[in-house]
Amino acid sequence: MKTGRVTLVGAGPGNPALMTLKGLRHLRRADVILYDRLAPDALLRQARPDAELIAVGKSPGDPLGRQEEINDVLVDRARRGLRVVRLKGGDPFVFGRGREEMNACAAAGVPCNVVPGISSALAAPASIGVSLTHRGAANAFAVITGRSSRSGGPPDYDWAALARIDAVVILMGHASLADVAAKLIAGGRAPDTPAVSVESATTSRQRHVTGTLANIAACAADAGLSNPIVTVIGEVARMARAEASHAARSRRARNRPLTGRRIAVTRASSSSDELFRLLRRAGAETIACPLIRAVFPPDADDADAALRRLADFDWIAFTSMHGVEGFWRRLQRSGRDARSLAGLRIAAIGPATAAALHRRGLVADATPRTFTGRDLARAILDAPHDRRSDSSARVLCPRGNLARTELESELRRAGAIAEPVEVYRTELIEPPPGAAAELTKGVDAVVFCSPSAVRQYATLRLSGGDAILAALGRTTAAALTEAGLSCGLVPESADVRALVTALGERLRREEALT
Ligand code: SAH
Repeated sequence: MKTGRVTLVGAGPGNPALMTLKGLRHLRRADVILYDRLAPDALLRQARPDAELIAVGKSPGDPLGRQEEINDVLVDRARRGLRVVRLKGGDPFVFGRGREEMNACAAAGVPCNVVPGISSALAAPASIGVSLTHRGAANAFAVITGRSSRSGGPPDYDWAALARIDAVVILMGHASLADVAAKLIAGGRAPDTPAVSVESATTSRQRHVTGTLANIAACAADAGLSNPIVTVIGEVARMARAEASHAARSRRARNRPLTGRRIAVTRASSSSDELFRLLRRAGAETIACPLIRAVFPPDADDADAALRRLADFDWIAFTSMHGVEGFWRRLQRSGRDARSLAGLRIAAIGPATAAALHRRGLVADATPRTFTGRDLARAILDAPHDRRSDSSARVLCPRGNLARTELESELRRAGAIAEPVEVYRTELIEPPPGAAAELTKGVDAVVFCSPSAVRQYATLRLSGGDAILAALGRTTAAALTEAGLSCGLVPESADVRALVTALGERLRREEALT
């Protein structure tokens, strides 16, 4: 059996675009991804749809034993011959325990290497215009932690020595900021030294407060800053640019109707997810809480048999992105490519499915105006046809095991031939522990894109408090009602764009009422 390997990949400071190209390449290829709390959602969606995603919710206060568990999982998966990515916030070797994981791999004889990332220690000051080595203001900087694993408080530094370093950058220093500041002052640093704390640097939630060494802890507390925070002490902190004015913020908020909203999405994550992109563009914080995932079985005899007689069909009708992916995998596995689809017409249920086809160089011949199986059948039957009468069209329908059969029954009702083939399976999964915790913390809306996700939500008795339960289409809405949950929103047309717009309008209306 081939041996697997582990790659420690730096995810960068929070903004997904700040990851390295090499890190992204590893992420996209990985069989297994272990990620921690600070890993951005958008990066996890770069994973292959069938990759195993394992959350290792190391948060402040978690028992230390967990590190050994993480090491064990890394080694175990690599020994099964898998490509394992350990995705770590910032840089894996800056207060990331990356070297410990590397040592564990070495001890187990598992190859392990590291892809560096942009550390928040550098990105947070940069994101507010603070240069840690600005000529005349600082010739050196130190990066320290405010929390040692032994005491929970700051480690036993030589505070007098630290007090003499031009710029001091504090990570994991939220809880102990007052303590660290007092120790630096006791070590000889002037209490009026400029200081700045940055929260969630490089993300849409970034904000910062300025003060002095003596009062920065109080200023951060007054502003309600919460983790993750980087604090910079030193003359250089004077360079922190002014926070955007209230007026500028509200102007921005008008264009971004979901600013400050937390939206959980229960669908399987994938790299091309338009829904997540639109939600974030509208200003929302997205919480990926996948309850289903698509798996592509290595064997699919029916689908392979259908592929061998593609000439028997007039159409291929795709009803999901996964259907496209699964069909494509079968095609490739059989040693063929897009040319074997020549002469066939292609229908896509909606824009996301059409986009998945487009990425493979195919343009859909028919897409219905509203995105239901019934309308897809209509679009196929009504499309001008040269070889035979419309109603006898022969349609291959690649689908998942749990997909709805509306398309096929509508086609058959009209006298057409519909042949479903299973190209993927939908598995019900438990959401990553971090996601369940985020739900409990409270969200403004939970979005469902399929009846199976609804049923899993009900089975696991998840709850988003008084969040609006939003369904992408009518069938999903009906599943909510069936499960005894109240569906708070279904857009007119079952597409993600309409859903995001409707959510923005609804939440704004609610805000106006309260
Ligand atoms: N390896 C990481 C640091 C892990 S320790 C790195 O190189 O960035 C976790 C600490 O990193 C947090 O307590 C906080 O101090 C800091 N941090 C990480 N991301 C941050 C962000 N986007 N904004 C502010 N601080 C951040």
